[in-house]
Amino acid sequence: MADTYTARPVDPRLHNLNGISANQIDQHYTLYQGYVNKTNELWGSLETADRSKANQTYSAIREMKVELSFAWDGVILHEYYFENLGGGGGNPPDEVRKALEAAYGSYEAWVEDFKASGISARGWVICSWDPKAGKVFNYIADAHNSFGIWNAVPLLVLDTYEHAYMVDYGVRRPPYIDAFMNNIDWHVVAQRLAAAKK
Ligand code: FE
Repeated sequence: MADTYTARPVDPRLHNLNGISANQIDQHYTLYQGYVNKTNELWGSLETADRSKANQTYSAIREMKVELSFAWDGVILHEYYFENLGGGGGNPPDEVRKALEAAYGSYEAWVEDFKASGISARGWVICSWDPKAGKVFNYIADAHNSFGIWNAVPLLVLDTYEHAYMVDYGVRRPPYIDAFMNNIDWHVVAQRLAAAKK
C-alpha cells in the first residue's frame, strides 16, 4: 500500500503577518493542500503503473514521475515558505549574517540580490546553503520542479507565483516581496543553516 503524507496545519501566527493577510494565507494554503493530495494520488497510481510500457517519449510511468516532482516539490517548497514566515523580519542572527556576507560581500548586497531574484523568478527564490560550492546562493525556480541544484539545502524560501500575493497586491510583486522580508523568521533560517552545515 502506498504511503500517504498528511498536510501540515496552518501555523496560527501566519494569520497575524504584517502586510500579508490571513485571507491571502488561507487561499494559498488550499493550493498547498492540493499538492499534498496529488502527491498521495501519484504515489498510489505509481504502485500499479505498467512498467512494461515505460518509454521516454510518452508513457504513464514517465508522466506520473514528472508530475510527482511538481506535486512533491510543491509540498516541500510551500512548507519551507510557510515555516520561514511569522518572525517579524529585522536583522538576521550573527551566524546567518556571516554566511550571507561571506557569499555576497554584505548583508545589503544579499538583500539586493534576493529581491532581484524574486523579480526574476516565475515561481520561487530558494536561498540555499550549497555544500559543494561551500556558500550561500540565491537560486531561482520557474516551477516547483525546475532549476533545482542537487544537495543545496533551502534556508529561506520565497514564493513568487502571483497566487502568493494577488489577494493583497494584485499584480504588484515588489511590495509583496517587501512584506515578505518584514515577516521572515530568521531563527528558522538560522536553525536550517546550522543543520545544513553539520
Ligand atoms: Fe504557492
